[in-house]
Amino acid sequence: MISVSDIIVGTATSDGAGVEINRVIGSKKIDHIDPFLLLDEFRNEHPDAYIAGFPPHPHRGFETVTYMLHGRMRHEDSTGQSGLLEDGSVQWMTAGSGIIHSEMPEQTGGMMWGYQLWVNLPADKKMSAPAYQDIPAKDIPEVKTDDGLVRLVAGEYGGITGAAQTMTKVCYLDVRRNPGTGFDFEMPAGWNGFIYVYQGSATVFGVNDSTCVVPQQAMAILAGDGKLTVTGTDEGVRFLLLAGEPIGEPIARMGPFVMNTRAELFKAADDYRRGTLTDRP
Ligand code: MN
Repeated sequence: MISVSDIIVGTATSDGAGVEINRVIGSKKIDHIDPFLLLDEFRNEHPDAYIAGFPPHPHRGFETVTYMLHGRMRHEDSTGQSGLLEDGSVQWMTAGSGIIHSEMPEQTGGMMWGYQLWVNLPADKKMSAPAYQDIPAKDIPEVKTDDGLVRLVAGEYGGITGAAQTMTKVCYLDVRRNPGTGFDFEMPAGWNGFIYVYQGSATVFGVNDSTCVVPQQAMAILAGDGKLTVTGTDEGVRFLLLAGEPIGEPIARMGPFVMNTRAELFKAADDYRRGTLTDRP
């Protein structure tokens, strides 16, 4: 059975050109949950907290996944691609050998609410060709029942396959449960996973066969194999469920680069300085 090994509340910080974010993974509290390197929540109704966005910056060695609940974000990158993320859409970007991109809010008022997840790549895929999947909300499969709604960003659930193709085996679900209803998920053996509660609060099995409550804007790290059962409290619950097959390789990270060794990090930084980061090897 799956249980909760730890509950972690994010750290308020800023990134890009001063966007206020809640860093859930990739902080001093928790560096990573293999294969997940980072999870940021941006959730603010004040334009001053997000409007400066994320001007052009590089990445190498992993994938960035942006999931918008509310708001619009324009992205452009060094491969010549561009797109507009809107409510309920996803961008799954493989930085691979190197990409320079910008992620800029395209609204001047109202709520901007979304998530950026970084998924690591194994050594033999870190230098693969950059690519991205721009997935509009209507193309994300949904499982609707009397209990609520599950949106399948990636992976398998209920015999349905999620929208994104992934290089690392991961499952990314947005789960919404009506008051008093539960949610079951079969965790593949050996995978790591967590839930991040973004609205309401959830009850999950804790350690020593007791249950524990995961409050809003907290992450519960899951341990063990088998069935996960999450129950919403009286007002219902909404949460992200992330699960993935661990890569199990050394992680060397420095800002926007995530490689296996320090030498590879220095090479990435040097390539960026020389303007050759986005050249294909
Ligand atoms: Mn980025």
